[in-house]
Amino acid sequence: MNIYDSEKIITILENKGLKQNEDIENADLIVFNTCNIRDKAAHKLYSDIGRVNKYKKEKTIAVVGCVAQAESYEMFNKNKSIDIILGPQSYHLLPQMIDDLKLKPKQVNTDFIINEKFDYLAEQKRKQGISSYLTIQEGCDKFCSFCVVPYTRGPEYSRPLQSLVDEVSSLTENGAREIVLLGQNVNAFNISHNGRKITIADLIEEISKNKNVKRIRYTTSHPINMRDDLIKLHSTNDKLMPFLHLPVQSGSSKILKKMNRKYDTDFYLKIIDKLKAVNPEIEISSDFIIGYPGETESDFKQTLDLVDKIKFTQSFSFIYSSRPGTKSALEIDKTPLHIKKERLSILQEKLKDIQFEFNKNFIRKNVDVLIENQSSSNPEYFFGRTPFMQSVYIKAQKITPGEVKTVNILTCNHKNLYASC
Ligand code: SAH
Ligand code: SF4
Repeated sequence: MNIYDSEKIITILENKGLKQNEDIENADLIVFNTCNIRDKAAHKLYSDIGRVNKYKKEKTIAVVGCVAQAESYEMFNKNKSIDIILGPQSYHLLPQMIDDLKLKPKQVNTDFIINEKFDYLAEQKRKQGISSYLTIQEGCDKFCSFCVVPYTRGPEYSRPLQSLVDEVSSLTENGAREIVLLGQNVNAFNISHNGRKITIADLIEEISKNKNVKRIRYTTSHPINMRDDLIKLHSTNDKLMPFLHLPVQSGSSKILKKMNRKYDTDFYLKIIDKLKAVNPEIEISSDFIIGYPGETESDFKQTLDLVDKIKFTQSFSFIYSSRPGTKSALEIDKTPLHIKKERLSILQEKLKDIQFEFNKNFIRKNVDVLIENQSSSNPEYFFGRTPFMQSVYIKAQKITPGEVKTVNILTCNHKNLYASC
C-alpha cells in the first residue's frame, strides 16, 4: 500500500509542476513515506533524515504516512529539520502545505478525511506498470491486539464503484494488464451501489468486464472476511489468479485468541479446504508473527505443523514488535530475544524449503507468464510472473511486455524460476 501511496504522491507533485529527481543531493523537496507497523521501520526514519540532511541546506523535508500519523507534532522535537508532517489519509493536501510553508514554517495535518482524499486522487491520472495496484479499501476495524493499523489508518472505508471502474480504465489505457486490488482488509470491501450491496466478488466480476484486464489479484485478505461468493469466484472467474495471500499469523489457537484474530486454526483450515474444493490449483501465502507474548515452544510447534499442512508457497515472517498504544504492548513478554530469533530462523528455513520444492515442480513444464518488463541492464532478459506470483526471468529475443507468454521452465531456486523462449 505504501508503494501505491508513494506513486500517488509522485503524481500529485508532478501535477503541481515538480519533477521527480533521482539524485537526492539536488532535490529541493524530500518526502519520506513511512510505515509504523514494526518498531524498526519507525526508528530507521530518523537515521534516514539525518543522512539526507548533509546534502543540501535549502530543502523541504516532509514526513508522510503512518509514523507521521502516530507521532504527529512530537516529530518536530525529535528532528528540527522536518517541515511537514502529514498522515496517510490526507496526503492530497501536500501541495497546499508546501505553499503554506511560506506563511507558517511548520505544517501538520493528521485528519482522517479519507473520502475527500480518494475524490481528489481519482482525478489525478497515474502512470503505472503492466501490473498495477488499485486501492479499493483502507483502514481497519478489527483491532488485533498487536497492530497499529486501526489507529494510524482509521476505520474501514471502501471506495465507490464508479471511481474504481474508472481508475481501472485509466490504468489499462496506460498499459496495465494486471490489477492488484489493495486494502488492509481487502476482502472486507463493502459498498452500497444503486441500493445493492456490492462485495469484493462483485467488484472483481465488474473489473473482469474490462477486456484489457488479463489478471486480477487481491491483497491482503482477512480470514474472517473470506465469504463464500469470493471463494466460489476462484472456480468461475478465469481472470482471478489461483493464488491468495491469507495471513494466519500463528498456528496456535491459544495465541490467535490472545491476538484477537477472531478465528482459530480449525476455522482457517476450513477456509483452505473450501478454496481447494472449488479450485485444487490454488496456492496460499501468509504472514507470521513469531514470539508473541506468551508463545511457548508448543505454540511455536503448532505453527510449524500448520505450515507443514498447508505448504504456503510464499510468506512474510517477523518477530513480534511491541507497538505503543496497542493492547499487547501491556502484556508481559518473558521469551528472550535469542529464542525468538531461533524460532524465526527455523520457520523461515521451513518456508524456504517448501517454496523451493514448489518451484522445482515447474522445471521442464510450460507455464503462463505475464511479461512485466525487459531488463534495462541486460536486454536479453525479460521479467514476468506466473499465476502463482513466482518471479520468472526469461531469456528471449523479443517479447512485448503486457503479453501472457507460455514459457518452458529450465531451472529455479527458492525465489525465482528461469526460462527461455
Ligand atoms: N490486515 C492484514 C495485515 C496487515 S499488517 C491481516 O490482518 O492479515 C501486515 C502484517 O504485519 C501482519 O499480517 C502482521 O504479520 C505484521 N504485523 C503487524 N503488526 C505487527 C507487530 N506489532 N509485530 C510484528 N509484525 C506485525
Ligand atoms: Fe492490523 Fe490486519 Fe488486524 Fe487490522 S486485521 S488490526 S490491519 S493485523
